[in-house]
Parts: sequence; C-alpha cells; structure tokens
Amino acid sequence: MNYKNIPMVPRVVFGRGSFNQLNEIISPKRLNVNAPFIFLVDDVFRGDSWLTSRIPLAYQDRLIYVSAKEEPKTSQVDELVEDIILKSKERPSGIIGIGGGTILDLAKAVSIMLTNNGSASDYQGWDLVKNPAIYHVGIPTISGTGAEVSRTTVLTGPDKKLGINSDFTPFDQVILDSELTKDVPKDQWFYTGMDCFIHCVESLKGTYLNAFSQSYGEKAYELCNQLFLENIITDEEAQEKLMMASWHGGMSIVYSQVGVAHALSYGLSYLLGTKHGIGNCIVFDQLEEYYPEDVALFKTMKQKHNIKLPQGICANLSDEDFDIMINIALELEPLWENAVGKSWKKTITREKLKELYQKM
Ligand code: NAD
Ligand code: ZN
Repeated sequence: MNYKNIPMVPRVVFGRGSFNQLNEIISPKRLNVNAPFIFLVDDVFRGDSWLTSRIPLAYQDRLIYVSAKEEPKTSQVDELVEDIILKSKERPSGIIGIGGGTILDLAKAVSIMLTNNGSASDYQGWDLVKNPAIYHVGIPTISGTGAEVSRTTVLTGPDKKLGINSDFTPFDQVILDSELTKDVPKDQWFYTGMDCFIHCVESLKGTYLNAFSQSYGEKAYELCNQLFLENIITDEEAQEKLMMASWHGGMSIVYSQVGVAHALSYGLSYLLGTKHGIGNCIVFDQLEEYYPEDVALFKTMKQKHNIKLPQGICANLSDEDFDIMINIALELEPLWENAVGKSWKKTITREKLKELYQKM
C-alpha cells in the first residue's frame, strides 16, 4: 500500500471581518512594485463598495471581474494568463480569488499556468503539473464546494471536464470570513450547501473511507444536518457553520473520493452546462438506490426550504447526447470504484447510466 502524501492549506484566517486583514496578509508577499497582485473577483460584486473598497490595490495591481455564470474553462484560464502576462511588467506577486467555487478554481488554475507552459488542458488529470504555482490566496464568498481546501481545480476542457489535481493546486493562504456570504441568494445557498452534504455522503458511504476522511466527513455531515434540518441558530452562526462544513467536507474527500452523484453531474455539466451545485442536486434526487437514507434526508431538506429542482432536463436529448454524458461519467473511474467497489463495471453499465439520466 502506498499512502498519499497530501498537501494542506498552510495558512488560514477565520473570523467575521477578517477580510479587513487582506492587505496586512499579502503585503509581505509582494515581490516588487512591478510584480502586481491580481485580484480575480466574482462580478456579482461589481459596484458593491462594501466589499470592493476593501480590496487593497497598489502599484500595478489589477482587479479583474469574472462572471460565474458558467463554470471555468481551460480556454478561459489560458486567456486570463495571456492577458496577465501581456499587461504585467513582471510575473505577478500573487493571484487572489474572491468568490465561489468558480472563481476559486480559476484563481488556482491561473496561478499554476503562470509558471507552467502550454494550455491548462495539458494538465487536467493527476499530478501533471511540473512547476510550483505562484502565491495564491482563496477567499470564499459562498460555502459548500470545499474548493478552498482541495487539491484540485475543476475545469471544462475541449474534450473533458476534469480537475488539475496536483500538490501545487491548494491555496497558500485562505481567508474564511463568513460575513462575505451574507447576500448569497437562497436557492444558490441550498445548491452549494448540498454540494457539501453530498461530498460527505459520498465520502462516508464510499469504499475508500478511512478514519481520516471519516473524522472530517462526520463533522461536516452533522453540521449540514443541523443547518438544513433544524431551525435553532442565527444567520451569522449558520454562515460560520456552513463555512466550516464546507472546509471539513473538502478535507474529507481529499483522502477519499466522491461518488455517483458527482460522476453523473459531471456529464450533465459537460453536455448541458448544468452548474455543479444544482446539477448534483438534480442527480442526487434520483439516487435512492445508492444512498437510500441520505436521499430521503435530502428530500426533506428540499421540502423544508421549498426548493423546486428543474425537471425533465434530459427529456429531449438524443441517443448521441446520452452517449456523451455517459462517456464523461464512465471516465471517472475512481469515483465509481469508491462508490460501488472494485467490481463496479459489473453493475455500472451504459444502460444503467442512461436509465438514471432519463429520470432527470
Ligand atoms: P459559483 O462560484 O458558481 O457561484 C454561484 C453563484 O453564486 C454565482 O452566480 C455567483 O455569482 C453567486 N455568488 C457567489 N458569492 C455570492 C455572494 N456572496 N453573494 C451573492 N451571490 C454570490 O458556485 P459554487 O457552487 O461555489 O461553485 C461551483 C464551482 O465549483 C463549479 O465550477 C465546480 O466545478 C467547482 N467545484 C470545485 C471543487 C474543488 O475542489 N476545486 C469542488 C466542488 C466544486
Ligand atoms: Zn462537489
């Protein structure tokens, strides 16, 4: 047995209002006045001076607003990197991502591609990155994905949706300020929060489970149950707890794997552009066969928060469309092995996946 030697985020600040410390945290990392900090910020914050006035721009620093309407693409990373190289006198001092999973993943990928040749798509996979990334900081503004702690940055490329999984991917610094999540719309709060719940279920119910993953997964699972089924805490407490649930859920899968919902959701995302959080919910809703108790809990949570998921998104798809989604899903072998076991190929057939997709 060869055990994974995983990198973790070496520095983290936690606390409401800790975003105010950004300047003090990054200043020592400035290489020189010609090496800018590049702030990649979710464009939902454009015009929001409560947040943007606290971004400490100096010298040649740039603030680039990025839309989170679509999930990050390898081509988008390549364009951002090219733009940053062209407009900077020197290699940047650091990349600071401020947003949800979409922006955090972009920040990770851009920081890697500033020191590695070629296209981001060349590095989709496991341990293909050769050179350390530049200094990168993650500041989540919505909780659930665990992208703030993970060793991957999930990108859609020309022929696959797959992460850049590497020791250089995790952030050098994370700032967890739950106040930044205060204006997340209710539906999105639920979808991204359920991403965390599903991370826990897939880790805890998977065959790769071990005491490391279990200890983080159980804590996050307990927090999700509290947050989505009980009604006993203030908004502020709830925002802080969801932030920590996201962190622990992410830590849990670092040493295990996700499962059926993620494999199928990647197919939906690749073909239909369905975003990760809502896509996971649409899939998980149909997975009684694999996670019976947790799908029942999920349905209760959905009802409690009055969430109506889109129906029939696969109703008008052609056989070729189903084939595309099935190919994407089946390529994610570790996910199936974790979910179903070593002999997963006996039950996870193309027909089985088509039958599941047809229910969505
Ligand atoms: P997101 O980043 O796409 O954001 C969802 C929506 O919420 C967007 O419209 C965004 O503008 C809005 N939003 C974010 N913060 C807000 C705030 N404070 N106030 C108001 N609106 C706000 O959503 P997400 O669910 O966080 O991330 C999904 C992405 O994360 C996907 O691309 C997925 O592949 C990726 N992901 C990565 C990992 C990883 O380990 N790297 C894990 C899971 C998911
Ligand atoms: Zn996820």
